[in-house]
Amino acid sequence: MPIKLPSFRPRRDAYPPDLWTKCPSCEEMLFNKQLDKVQRVCPNCGHHFRLSADARLGLLLDHGTFVERDAGLQSVDPLGFVDQKPYPDRVAAAQLATGLRDAAVWGTGTMDGRPVAICVMDFGFMGGSMGAVVGEKVTRAAEYSLVQRLPLIVVSASGGARMQEGTLALMQLAKSVAALERLRSTGVPFISVLSDPTTGGVFASFAVLGDVNLAEPNALIGFAGARVSAGTIAQELPAGFQRSEFLYQHGFLDRVVHRSELRSEISLLLGYLRPVPREGARDEPEQLGLPAFRPLSFLSNLAERVMPSDPEPAPTNGAAHLDLATGGARSATTPVGLPPPEAPSVPAEPDGTPPANGTSPSPAAVGSTETELADAPAPEAHRG
Ligand SMILES: [Zn+2]
Repeated sequence: MPIKLPSFRPRRDAYPPDLWTKCPSCEEMLFNKQLDKVQRVCPNCGHHFRLSADARLGLLLDHGTFVERDAGLQSVDPLGFVDQKPYPDRVAAAQLATGLRDAAVWGTGTMDGRPVAICVMDFGFMGGSMGAVVGEKVTRAAEYSLVQRLPLIVVSASGGARMQEGTLALMQLAKSVAALERLRSTGVPFISVLSDPTTGGVFASFAVLGDVNLAEPNALIGFAGARVSAGTIAQELPAGFQRSEFLYQHGFLDRVVHRSELRSEISLLLGYLRPVPREGARDEPEQLGLPAFRPLSFLSNLAERVMPSDPEPAPTNGAAHLDLATGGARSATTPVGLPPPEAPSVPAEPDGTPPANGTSPSPAAVGSTETELADAPAPEAHRG
């Protein structure tokens, strides 16, 4: 009779990470499927885990109403940026891991039957960093909201601007803020939800510009990291610095909302905040509410004031006219550099600048001085 020997298999991990997650707050081991059912909030201590874009949309919108827009937008590599690996490789790896094209998803859907435009960020995609695609999606969501008069909801989860896109990433701050300003001036509500973490360029631009700014409990929210802030002011930071509750107590946020109440809270707010209906017929093209101030026209106005379109500095005495005029007339006939016959008789300018005889003015200047010559008094009268 064969003897059954005990088999020595390699010891299995008691908590395989694909099945279990350890709560960083209370250290309880949580079964992943269970955690997903409770919207990834620790049932033991209430710690809010980060949510993927898909889960966030599922949490906020009516089931099956989300229609994604601009799904094909994808980052390019304008700088040829390489750190530990090339930027395109990094993007490709993130796409493979998350199934997203970039760190933001935007589209339309309904919330308790009310149509909204919504943009959500996913921290899992390169730390939710904002490059050209994220900025563009936020901007397009805002512009769509403006044209359609739909409330806009943006859920942020980001470490800041994407350094691999350099200045182009920083430009997204101005672009998204400009679009939101048009939204504000038109009277279309914008609700910003700050989830863990909302930092850097996202915090410094659209995330805190909501008509109502909501945050999830204990979310990290701030511009620079705590260590940098402490070093800059050379002081110890208070407990809970850069957390939702701290910012709420100091008036930076309007509400801190538990994830299970987030949807009903936003829905309630949207009941109060109704978009201002658009004026005129529905089929008229929407005016984007551009401000009267245009940087380009401002600059050209300024330039006209500094440099008058008339090349003459508007002199008050006729002699200056004549010096220029005779010099111009001469230089048209005599070679440049040769002293004209009357040169010694022409006095220098009072401020010490030499007379313009030796210079060759442009044809336009010659033309203008010749027309003024007709109005000017005779040279003898002034030379005395
Ligand atoms: Zn916990």
